[in-house]
Amino acid sequence: MEIQEILSEQKMFFRTQKTGNIRFRKMYLEKLKDLIIQNENVLYEAIDRDFGKSEFDTATTEISFILKDISYYLKNLNILTSPKKVRTNLANQIGKSRICTDPLGCVLVIGAWNYPYQLSLSPVIAALAAGNCCILKPSEIAAHTSKAMAKIINDNFPPEYVYVYEGGIEETTELLKLRFDKIFFTGSTKVGKIVYKAAAEHLTPVTLELGGKSPVIVTKNASLEIAAKRIVWGKFLNAGQTCVAPDYLLIEETVQEQFLELLRNYIKEFRYEPGSGHYTRIINLKNFQRLIQLIDKEKIYYGGNYNEEKLYIEPTILSNVDREDDVMQEEIFGPILPAISFDNFNTALNSVLEMEKPLSAYLFSNSQEEKDAFTQKLSFGGGCINDVVMHLGNENLPFGGVGNSGIGSYHGKYGFETFSHQKAVLERATWGEPNIKYPPYSEQKLKW
Ligand code: NAD
Repeated sequence: MEIQEILSEQKMFFRTQKTGNIRFRKMYLEKLKDLIIQNENVLYEAIDRDFGKSEFDTATTEISFILKDISYYLKNLNILTSPKKVRTNLANQIGKSRICTDPLGCVLVIGAWNYPYQLSLSPVIAALAAGNCCILKPSEIAAHTSKAMAKIINDNFPPEYVYVYEGGIEETTELLKLRFDKIFFTGSTKVGKIVYKAAAEHLTPVTLELGGKSPVIVTKNASLEIAAKRIVWGKFLNAGQTCVAPDYLLIEETVQEQFLELLRNYIKEFRYEPGSGHYTRIINLKNFQRLIQLIDKEKIYYGGNYNEEKLYIEPTILSNVDREDDVMQEEIFGPILPAISFDNFNTALNSVLEMEKPLSAYLFSNSQEEKDAFTQKLSFGGGCINDVVMHLGNENLPFGGVGNSGIGSYHGKYGFETFSHQKAVLERATWGEPNIKYPPYSEQKLKW
């Protein structure tokens, strides 16, 4: 069936209002949960074929994440969908006011390849929980995981409700011509702009989950040992192919030497070596070649080796990096950590302010003054103090960017709201009419 026909069928199905029924939503969320559990090994195998990721990593950063999302909605759906009473102002007395959450209709989710299950299915789950029909277009770059999701969903769900449409630029361009009620896109800022333009044609609302250069700032007031351990984990997880990974390090000059040594020790301790089973390869040759161009041999503090045939790049730290260096001109999205030193905390903050607003920002410090300045002065999608990446795992926090790093957010109730319309309803009593609002407007009324 052509994708236009599937969308037409979804539109007709949505009009039956079946997807709005709470029992229907829960039934299919349960079904998806069962399918994920039953097919766990298929999902592990597919991601391993795409980029050599260990089962442990996939279980913790992908599968458990999706299952947690489903459980959240199953548990909270009744509360999330119940109309919220709000106060009614004097001019609308006698009356009652409430906000009802409506599904938007037929939504399009476009996924990225780096956490292919989480970034595709998490928005789909929120969309279904909110009562919508959905078409998912996973990233063609992670071809095996895309196929696995298509098989699991298309074999088990009615296409007029949920459908996975596989493909690359051509297919996405075709999809973007169609009229959806919402587009949820995860990917680069460059493609985000293409999606936004296409959505504007139909006045379709968008959520854009984009990227950027996320800084991690380490000051002399930090617990350096734990900072190094957490940064090494967050940076080299998935070989740096994580949208919220610390992109570059801003390190206070006086502790730089000590800190870089700690980073090096943890890389070794974590056995981030090709083939160790703890370290992922680069997704494809194009990205591999882009990344190795960013390694300035003169500035290598640690690592810098790579294997083109196996698509592995060793965890690499660059020191004495300048703002003007190539590695600072674009989001790295790989296992290269440039370190830039600073002698004054405010200078470090100002240097972040000079760049585009990042998806994430991190600070390691035990100084309250520095923590306050970090949260008050910097604008970023989300972040952590004394950790990296982990804010994304708290479903009580909204996850999304700001400025160039995105529009809108999701996770938990924010995901539900992203795929809902907040409908305002005022219900008036048919008695107690205040006649003052009706013409003719006598002198006496005007005085009042
Ligand atoms: P991408 O923008 O290249 O691709 C994302 C999606 O857009 C894919 O499904 C792809 O098929 C489609 N696409 C690509 N080019 C297109 C075009 N010209 N027209 C229409 N559709 C097109 O991004 P990617 O390489 O998959 O992911 C890396 C980027 O995504 C990084 O910038 C990263 O920071 C960002 N990212 C953000 C988040 C987040 O949650 N904010 C999560 C993961 C990745």
